[in-house]
Amino acid sequence: MKILVKKLTKRQKIKGIVVALSVLLVAVASVSVFFGIKYSVARKQLSQAVNELSELQSSMNVQLSEEASRYNEISENRDFESAAYEAEIENKSKEYQSKVDELNKKINDLNKQLSQKKEQAASSGQTVSSGGQTVYLTFDDGPSAVTVDILNVLDKYSVKATFFVTSGKYNSVMKEIVNRGHSIGLHCYNHSYSAIYKSDEAYFADLQKISDLVLSQTGKESKLIRFPGGSSNTVSKKYSNGIMSRITKSVTEKGYVYFDWNCQTGDAEGITDINKLVKNGTTYPKSAKNIVILMHDTKSATVKALPQIIEFYQKKGMKFAALTVSTAPVHHKVGN
Ligand SMILES: [Zn+2]
Repeated sequence: MKILVKKLTKRQKIKGIVVALSVLLVAVASVSVFFGIKYSVARKQLSQAVNELSELQSSMNVQLSEEASRYNEISENRDFESAAYEAEIENKSKEYQSKVDELNKKINDLNKQLSQKKEQAASSGQTVSSGGQTVYLTFDDGPSAVTVDILNVLDKYSVKATFFVTSGKYNSVMKEIVNRGHSIGLHCYNHSYSAIYKSDEAYFADLQKISDLVLSQTGKESKLIRFPGGSSNTVSKKYSNGIMSRITKSVTEKGYVYFDWNCQTGDAEGITDINKLVKNGTTYPKSAKNIVILMHDTKSATVKALPQIIEFYQKKGMKFAALTVSTAPVHHKVGN
């Protein structure tokens, strides 16, 4: 608006000058005509002055019309640009506001989901812990007649576990293990140290057989391994010197992940006292991020000890999980 006033004032000034010049021109012309006859010299001078004034007038007229058209042009463009600019600003601010609203809605939804998950976890006895220790219950040598009992205990506590299987009478239970959301891993097809640790080739032939069996029973290919006796076993030395050093490397190269353990109930060593199994199963490495507990789903004593072991860790707020290929593995020191 200020620009407009300034422009108009300037325009009016120019117009004023032109009017003044026109008046002067008429006056001079009249004087020239009046004295023209008597004073020929003065007439020449006056004639020159009239010409000059006339030129000045037309030059001022040209300037005025140029100035006027330029002003019109500028003010038209300015109005147009400023209106377009204002509309653009308004659109942008609306757009940003709707984005902010959308994000706030998302944050609210996520907060709702988070509190629902926390409630669900609390009611199922599981705790959503961040950065705490995770407990991995692992069962070797099954499936057996007690595997379904183990699965029922796990379901009761909403806990997921891992079963490193071998071939036997209860192969069909492998499907049940997977259906109930647990991980299935490869232990061995033939649980005979002398057979599987005879040579690297013998080990891998056995691994392929159990892998094929798991695939045929469950429709899933497993890349999780537990070596019979663990990677630290020395019994294999009797059959093939250095075999564990070699096959622990080559299974990894073939895309498998092997898991040992850092806690065990001792159920495979003839312990049947429930309290003793619970005590062993709850004696865990305090500094380890992942607690991998070795048990066997071939022992009825394990079925009885399992609830107390689970309750112990749940009371501590620790979460349970099934092993996956992404789980940071617990490895023993290879002894052969
Ligand atoms: Zn075993």
